[in-house]
Amino acid sequence: MASLENQIILITGASSGIGTACAKIFAGAGAKLILAARRLERLQQLADTLTQDFNTEVHLLELDVRDRSAVESAISNLPSSWSDIDILINNAGLSRGLDKLHEGSFTDWEEMIDTNIKGLLYLSRYVVPGMVSRSRGHVVNLGSIAGHQTYPGGNVYCATKAAVRVISEGLKQDLLGTPVRVTSVDPGMVETEFSEVRFHGDTERAKKVYQGVTPLTPDDIADVIFFCVTRSPHVNINEVVLMPVDQA
Ligand code: NDP
Repeated sequence: MASLENQIILITGASSGIGTACAKIFAGAGAKLILAARRLERLQQLADTLTQDFNTEVHLLELDVRDRSAVESAISNLPSSWSDIDILINNAGLSRGLDKLHEGSFTDWEEMIDTNIKGLLYLSRYVVPGMVSRSRGHVVNLGSIAGHQTYPGGNVYCATKAAVRVISEGLKQDLLGTPVRVTSVDPGMVETEFSEVRFHGDTERAKKVYQGVTPLTPDDIADVIFFCVTRSPHVNINEVVLMPVDQA
């Protein structure tokens, strides 16, 4: 197993769910963490916990991944001790609504497309060149089972996650001849704030999503990501699909 000791790992969407779980497992392995999200106070609480529990070095980025110039500035202005990013976890993402396409909200569509696709592209565009020039690196993109199966009302969210899958494959092709690795991790249902965000804070509706299913936990996903990034340098795990046992 490759060591993560002192590796610099940038996690987007670290303020909640899967991103927070990744931060914890990487901190336990001795990595240095750049944690990005819009809710800085959440990141600060997480950083305090990681510093106390693991003595982790943490750098915080209050960042909206939809804002291309903010992403460029955040990456180009990293202090030199933080600029050599070894692993990028493109995790920030969301779903909004479960509306039929012909009744859908333009605002919801744009938020999903701008976050899940464009945000991931911006981060990759500004971080990957450094990986190529240093001849080391790994990009992990959070896709979804929604990129493989379309469900009623899933239309635009499913399209964004299908795009993540294709972008991951495309980036892998573009990086052939370099040692930089690319992985897409595509989970089924995971119990996080995702459903609450999807239904614009309607917690009752969000809870019903998990009825009849034992959902995956954020730690289940972090475990898989940890496995992918700790393989020997010649091994690229292209894609992992993981589902709750009782999800169709
Ligand atoms: P959460 O809602 O718990 O976390 C989402 C994270 O994304 C938050 O930290 C949020 O931070 C961040 N985020 C959202 N929009 C932006 C933005 N514009 N700029 C920066 N950060 C942003 O959901 P999950 O942990 O479940 O989701 C993580 C990823 O996993 C997503 O890509 C999601 O699509 C994917 N996924 C989730 C599944 C599930 O069932 N939960 C299943 C399959 C895939 P903040 O609001 O502070 O900016």
